[in-house]
Amino acid sequence: MTEIRLHNTKTRRRETFEPLDPSNVRMYVCGPTVYDRAHMGNARPAIVFDVLFRLLREIYGADHVTYVRNITDVDDKINARAAQTGRDIADITAETTAWYLEDMAALGNLEPTHMPRATGYIAEMIAMIEGLIESGHAYEADGHVLFAVESYADYGALSGRSIDDMIAGARVEVAPYKRNPMDFVMWKPSDARQPGWDSPWGRGRPGWHIECSAMADKLLGESFDIHGGGNDLMFPHHENEIAQSACAHPDAEMAQIWMHNEMLLVEGRKMSKSLGNFFTVRDLLDQGVAGEVIRLVFLSTHYGKPMDWTDTKRSEAEGTLKRWYGVLHRHGYCARMVEMLKSQGGWNADAEFLGVLANDLNTSGAIARLHVLAKGHTAPALAGFAHGLDLLGLVPDWDRLGDLAGVEDAATGPEWVSEVVERLLGERQAARAAKDWAEADRIRDVLNAAGVLVSDVGGAASWTPGPAFDPAVLERHR
Ligand SMILES: [Zn+2]
Repeated sequence: MTEIRLHNTKTRRRETFEPLDPSNVRMYVCGPTVYDRAHMGNARPAIVFDVLFRLLREIYGADHVTYVRNITDVDDKINARAAQTGRDIADITAETTAWYLEDMAALGNLEPTHMPRATGYIAEMIAMIEGLIESGHAYEADGHVLFAVESYADYGALSGRSIDDMIAGARVEVAPYKRNPMDFVMWKPSDARQPGWDSPWGRGRPGWHIECSAMADKLLGESFDIHGGGNDLMFPHHENEIAQSACAHPDAEMAQIWMHNEMLLVEGRKMSKSLGNFFTVRDLLDQGVAGEVIRLVFLSTHYGKPMDWTDTKRSEAEGTLKRWYGVLHRHGYCARMVEMLKSQGGWNADAEFLGVLANDLNTSGAIARLHVLAKGHTAPALAGFAHGLDLLGLVPDWDRLGDLAGVEDAATGPEWVSEVVERLLGERQAARAAKDWAEADRIRDVLNAAGVLVSDVGGAASWTPGPAFDPAVLERHR
C-alpha cells in the first residue's frame, strides 16, 4: 500500500498517515458561509482537499472514506445581506449553496460524502454547550454563553500562541460579560428580526465555531483522521474548535492531523476589492476559462505555498490540457475504454505518480510526472497517464476528449473501434477454441497492423491502442 505522508500543522512535522480505522477514513473540512458567490480564494481548499479525498479513495477504496464539508447557513454576514436586500435568509442561503455546488463541480470537485448545514444541527450544538457549562469550560453571561479559554491548558497550541500573546496582538472584542477578553461566544441572544432558536439561555443562535465541533462529532465521531481548511481559519476558528471538542471529550483527540492550505494571490498581489483584482469563480467561468484549466493552475503550486494566479499560467494550462487530451484521444480513450480497462485490471496508477502525490500532496511533482507519462509509448504508461489525470480530477468528460483537445474528429469515433476490436477478439477466441490456428493468426495480424496491443491473461483477452494505433486499418472490418 502506498504510504501517505502529510504535514501536520499541530506537530509542525510531516507525518506518516495512519488512519484510526482504514475501513472508514474520516476527514472534515470547513466549508463556505453562504451569502455570496465563492471567490477564487474559496476555491483553493475545495480543490486541495478534493485531491486528498480522491487520493484516500484510491488507496483505501472509494467506499472507505468519509468526507464532511459543512455549510454555514447561520451567520451575521448572512443576516446583514438579508437586511441589505430585503430578501429572506432561507432564499439567500439556498441560492448561494446551489451556486457554490455548481461552481465547485465546474472545477472538477467531487461532492463530499456529507454536506451538513449548521441550521440542521442546532440541537447537537446546544447539547455540546450544555455539557461544556456543566464541566466548567463555559459560562453564561448576559444571554451569551462563552467558552472560558483559561479552562483549557492547550489553548493556542495549534497556532503556537499563548493567551497573553493573543490578547496583545489581536483586536479582541472587549465585552463586559467576558471573564477573559479571549473568551469566545458559543451562543448569543437573537432579537425578533434575527434568526433564533429556543435554548436554555433564551432565544438565540450559535456562534460560528461550535457548529464544526458539533457536526464533526455527530458525523465523524469524537476522534477522526484529518481536519482541513484555509490557513486563515487556523486562528481563531480551528483553535476554538479544538478547545470545544477536546473539553467536550477529554479522552478523544478530535482530529489527528490538521492541514492548512496557503492563500491565493493574483498577479503577485493579495486579492482585494480595493485593488480591483477580486474575482469569483463564476467570473472566470463566464469569461470562458474552463474549470479544469483553473484546477490545473491551482494544482501546479503545492497547497502549503501561496498560489499566484496569473494570466500566463492560465494560458499555459490551457495549452497543456489540450495536448494531454489530444494524446488520450489519439489512443482511443473514451468512457467505454476506461470502463473496459477497469473491468480488465488495466486501470492502474503509475507507481511513481502515486508516490509523489502521496508525499504531502505534491501536486506540482505529480503534474511533472504526468508530462513524462504523456510521452509514454506503452499501454501501461498511457493508462497510468490517464489514471493520473483522472485522480487529479482533470478529466471533465471522457467522451469529449476530442472536443476538449480541439481535434476535428469524423467517422472514426472510438465507439465503433471498440466494437470492431472486441468482435475480432471474440472471433479469434472462437478460432482458437476450434484449433483453427491460421484464422487466429490472421486476426492477430489485423490487430497488429492497426496498432492494437492485445494481452492474454488468464484466458481473457484485453486490448489497448498502442503508440502506432491506426483505426483506419480496422475500417474494412466494420
Ligand atoms: Zn470549521
